[in-house]
Amino acid sequence: MSEVRHNWTKEEILEIYNRPMMELLYDAATIHRKQHDPNVVQVSTLLSIKTGGCSEDCGYCPQAARYHTGVEGNDLMSVNQVKAQALRAKEGGSSRVCMGAAWRNVKDGPEFDQVLEMVRGINKLDMEVCCTLGMITENQAKRLAEAGLYAYNHNLDSSEEYYKEVISTRGYQDRLDTIGNVRKTNVTVCSGGIIGMGENIEDRAGMLVALSTLDPQPESTPINALVAVEGTPLEDEKPVEIWDMIRMVATTRIVMPETQVRLSAGRTQMSREGQAMCFFAGANSIFAGDKLLTTPNPDVNEDMKMFELLGMKPQKPFTKKVQPQTVEATDSEFESLGEKPKWTRPDHKIDRNEVAKQKGKELKV
Ligand code: SF4
Repeated sequence: MSEVRHNWTKEEILEIYNRPMMELLYDAATIHRKQHDPNVVQVSTLLSIKTGGCSEDCGYCPQAARYHTGVEGNDLMSVNQVKAQALRAKEGGSSRVCMGAAWRNVKDGPEFDQVLEMVRGINKLDMEVCCTLGMITENQAKRLAEAGLYAYNHNLDSSEEYYKEVISTRGYQDRLDTIGNVRKTNVTVCSGGIIGMGENIEDRAGMLVALSTLDPQPESTPINALVAVEGTPLEDEKPVEIWDMIRMVATTRIVMPETQVRLSAGRTQMSREGQAMCFFAGANSIFAGDKLLTTPNPDVNEDMKMFELLGMKPQKPFTKKVQPQTVEATDSEFESLGEKPKWTRPDHKIDRNEVAKQKGKELKV
């Protein structure tokens, strides 16, 4: 029942998603218990190491420079600032730090070298280190791996069809290729998506087909509920119903039995009871900290109180995979290649993105 399959079809996934709720919950919880300790949750802290000013047009993202969202941009944080925040996250119960930079793709140079030093610094704190930096080449993935990176996050966001309704400046295949580059190293893959962007259930199933047919499947899959931020093209989308979130988590658990399924953005809109149902349905990872990049998230203490109430405990670092070794920059085998890869820019027109961009222009004048 819980073997890992890489040939899921959209029809099969839709059948699971649409099962009567009690059956869906029972099936997902049964698989969950076979593969994972149901009382353990992996806790990550997301750190925005470079915020805002992004060149892309992702319809959900307040960090896109073209939209007027009130997000204040900042330059890349220093290595010491990042290490200090990682230490605080560790003291707060996090086993992983995920560093996010609002970049289209990684460019070789001093800023990437600085990120590599951050990876080295956090790995030495005996925490799992994850980065989400946009598209990366094979050599860049290898340099991150050598620095001690544990996971790389690159979300597929939605189905390939609906992705085109949300983003025009970067292509779906480039995302898959980036995941492929990460897979050429020992770094684990974190990839998931967002629900509540106006997609239909077929699109949710389509995204799960794309993720579950990867071989190996991602070790971690974040399921985000859209946080509709004013000024973005998706500002008018309605909040995701908790039942949709539960169905999505349960279906992900069934088609990706070994993956850590993460409750990500949108948790502030969920009650404790709703989150408990998601844990029962197979979620076993959360983001902690009062901010998720730029959107609100429950306070760490609130999460710890919830864990106490539910009798759950945070997962220890390196439970699923041994800690990577850190190779110092001076001993590195992979030098900067000064690569300038030509990642796709489909640039088709998405009406709501154009409207939000125009509004952004007017408000910035
Ligand atoms: S999601 Fe990432 S790539 Fe897209 S606009 Fe936001 S920061 Fe840029």
